[in-house]
Amino acid sequence: MAKGKKQKKIRSIIWGFASGLITVLMLMTLLVILDGRHNEIVMLGGESITLEYGESFEDPGVEIREVGRVFPTTKEPVIVSAIDAFDPTRLGMQRLEYLIVDNGREHRLYRDITVVDTQKPVIELLPIREGQEPSWMHGYIEPGFTAEDNVDGDMTGIVEATMLDDRVVYSVTDSSGNETVAERVLPGGMEAPVIELAGGADISLQACMSWDDPGFSVVDGLGRDLSAAVSVEGSVTPYRSGEYEMVYTLTNDFGESVTATRHVTVEPVQQSDTVYPERKTIYLTFDDGPSYYTPQLLDVLARYNVKVTFFITGNHPDYVDCIGRAYREGHSIGVHSYTHNYWNIYASEDAFFEDFNKCEDLIYEQTGAYTKLFRFPGGSSNTVSNFNPGIMSRLTKTMTDMGYYYFDWNVTSGDAGETTDTDQVYWNVISACTGNVSVVLQHDIKGFSVAAVERIIVWGLNNGYQFLPLEESSYGAHHGINN
Ligand code: ZN
Repeated sequence: MAKGKKQKKIRSIIWGFASGLITVLMLMTLLVILDGRHNEIVMLGGESITLEYGESFEDPGVEIREVGRVFPTTKEPVIVSAIDAFDPTRLGMQRLEYLIVDNGREHRLYRDITVVDTQKPVIELLPIREGQEPSWMHGYIEPGFTAEDNVDGDMTGIVEATMLDDRVVYSVTDSSGNETVAERVLPGGMEAPVIELAGGADISLQACMSWDDPGFSVVDGLGRDLSAAVSVEGSVTPYRSGEYEMVYTLTNDFGESVTATRHVTVEPVQQSDTVYPERKTIYLTFDDGPSYYTPQLLDVLARYNVKVTFFITGNHPDYVDCIGRAYREGHSIGVHSYTHNYWNIYASEDAFFEDFNKCEDLIYEQTGAYTKLFRFPGGSSNTVSNFNPGIMSRLTKTMTDMGYYYFDWNVTSGDAGETTDTDQVYWNVISACTGNVSVVLQHDIKGFSVAAVERIIVWGLNNGYQFLPLEESSYGAHHGINN
């Protein structure tokens, strides 16, 4: 009985133990089921990240941790890095792949990282250098600039510079579309300068020997003197009456010009009609005309109210009208020769007088009056008549006996052969008019000689001379007789 009880008791203990064990195991299993313990994979930092270009990137990784509902993490997490390399200098999206092997199973996770460039390029404007300020003359000289971008690097070469009235606008856009605009406000001073004429735009002066342009000034908007760059066209001949124009031109680097025009009027000096006995007197005499040049000579003489003497010929029939005009305008008319043919007129007294009388008739036709004034062809001292010995001695006496007055000269212009230059004629005359009475020989058949007359007159009037026409009582300036 005891043995049986003992066995029963042992069975009961084992059973109890087993059932307790089962209960514990059941409870533990329940606990495991309730806790739901498992591995969790977490993408740290999120699945998509945006980074600024150049910003450094520390991969936060992927975390694997064991978690349960009842009991939290029981193990240190494992950080897994991406298997791809990330390039922070590459714009746009890069996808990073993470490979996780968990309990022999592969898991792949992805993270999208977008690299963006939101930084604008930087434009730096260099300062305007001294002496290169914008000006009308040289325009705008770009002082220079630079453009730098964090992504595109040096962008200086593609900066667009736009010139406006008062500023320059620079713009550049980087490859990400970031635009930078910079402005350079221009200092003033680009307006066109004005040429200021000293003495005014209209000047009148009396004919004289010399004239100096009163000058001009021109400054630009910065106050700089530009006068050295001005070109002057035109000139004034102060001893020739008339209208003159001087044009002052300033041209800039772009071919644009500003000009100023000066009108200069040289007015003839009207000689007084009064005769001044104390004044040095010049008798201008013109031989061998009238000719093509005589009308213009008469015009000059009229402008200055200067009277002269014409010893005329009949050699230019088209201009014989000038004899009458000269006479009516107060000039003296004298006989020179109808033909001026030495071989004919000095061949005999008869030949001389025949020629002489034709000349007198011509004067009478043109003026309505005869004259007592005359000049021998070649002058009274001529030797061209030597082929007829003594003819000049005889003629001078005969003519004087007949009441004629012959005139030689004491100043020669040289226009009969020495020179054909107007300036030289002028100098020959004025350098020889040193006495109180000058009888000047010129020929109004020589254009270059006629052209010197106005200057001679202006010189004379400016130097206290008077010009008079020869009269019967005037100084004859006789040469010696050589034949
Ligand atoms: Zn002559």
